[in-house]
Amino acid sequence: MKKSKVYMVNTDDLDGGFSLIDRLTLLWNHEEINFKDWIKENDLVAIKTHFGSRNQTRHLRPMYIRRIVDLVREAGGIPWVCEGVGLGWDENNKEFTMANGPGFLSVGNRHGFNTSTLNAPVIMDDGTVGTDVYIVPNENGKYIKKVDLAMGLRMADKVIITARFKGHGGAGFGGALKQLGIGCVGVGGKGGAHYGGGENIYIKNPDNCTACGECIRICPTQCLSFDENNKIVHDPDNCIACVMCFAKCHHGIKREEIEEKRIFALRRRIPSLEQVERMMDNAAGVVKGIGEDRIRYINIAIDITAHCDCATTGGHLLVPDIGIFYSEDPIAIDQAGVDLVTKSPGMPGSVAETGIDSPAGRIEPIPDAMSPGGEKFGLFSVWVDAESRPKLVETQLSSAFDLKLGSREYELIDVTPKKE
Ligand code: SF4
Ligand code: SF4
Repeated sequence: MKKSKVYMVNTDDLDGGFSLIDRLTLLWNHEEINFKDWIKENDLVAIKTHFGSRNQTRHLRPMYIRRIVDLVREAGGIPWVCEGVGLGWDENNKEFTMANGPGFLSVGNRHGFNTSTLNAPVIMDDGTVGTDVYIVPNENGKYIKKVDLAMGLRMADKVIITARFKGHGGAGFGGALKQLGIGCVGVGGKGGAHYGGGENIYIKNPDNCTACGECIRICPTQCLSFDENNKIVHDPDNCIACVMCFAKCHHGIKREEIEEKRIFALRRRIPSLEQVERMMDNAAGVVKGIGEDRIRYINIAIDITAHCDCATTGGHLLVPDIGIFYSEDPIAIDQAGVDLVTKSPGMPGSVAETGIDSPAGRIEPIPDAMSPGGEKFGLFSVWVDAESRPKLVETQLSSAFDLKLGSREYELIDVTPKKE
């Protein structure tokens, strides 16, 4: 298997003068990385990031993105920072559902991702409600044969994918591949990965419909209508499983009664291993639709928690900070992150030491999780399919490999200046 190059700067203490932001700059300017030649004069450069869920404090810090913006400008490019419409808690805090662009931009602003701090436009790359997409044929996808690439990324000359490298409840871990497979697709792509598509949505309790018309008003594909009795009708062929109707149709139902009384429901829950495979189908379409040579990856393995940026809780750090990584290969950069986190000792007080209570039951810590070399990735996924947790990481990486997104073999090159 061909080895891909993964470059990194570490976070070890150095003599003065090298902040983490300085180290990011050293990485960018390294002669073998050569961002300056990759970015051409007046290239439109999209910097994809994750704003974090509302009031979540474990997300990528805007300072890293600001420095990337400055470096893109120095190289002659025209930067913008972008996020896609995605999943979050609805305005009533009742269920986890698809948000909208203004909501996401407000969260981004609250977390410091705005034009003032970043010195670049901050936009939603898939439009106001996540339906501004470019459809990429994806014949090799196991489940998703047409991928909803965010149109803003399709139109960019170059795309820099940034991710906080961390754990994830449904995917095992989140890094470059997850940014591609979830972060870079519109709401239809996210719906396809999490909920399986329009055929999986149905009207469970039609008699509960009061004909208020709110779901019809907000459905982005106009696949809802009233029948002759003013009850809601769903057209699965045009539904993209964005689940925005789920959140809109509450009508005074208490949070604990939602599953029983809801009008819109899923026929089946997508098992988490399948979710990960669907996510990688999306990733393959995204790379195809943007163009492999137009994308570069930066993983920031700092503030590594067991949970994603989209989780409401930040949580304790799982392992100590590791560093900032760069690669042209999304699998290699994630594989390096997985390997280094797995070799790190767990942090006292984190789920590595304490285990966690989850809806699937109590998950005890793996006995050697506090030791270097302990298997911590099983603890990264605590909410979905307890029995498949150990397989999630492997499934993400192997599915991406099967779809020819890169190599699992890598050469790790640490370019951190050494102490005298
Ligand atoms: S939002 Fe709910 S109650 Fe209102 S029309 Fe739609 S399904 Fe019926
Ligand atoms: S019916 Fe619901 S899930 Fe389907 S596209 Fe419309 S709003 Fe989205």
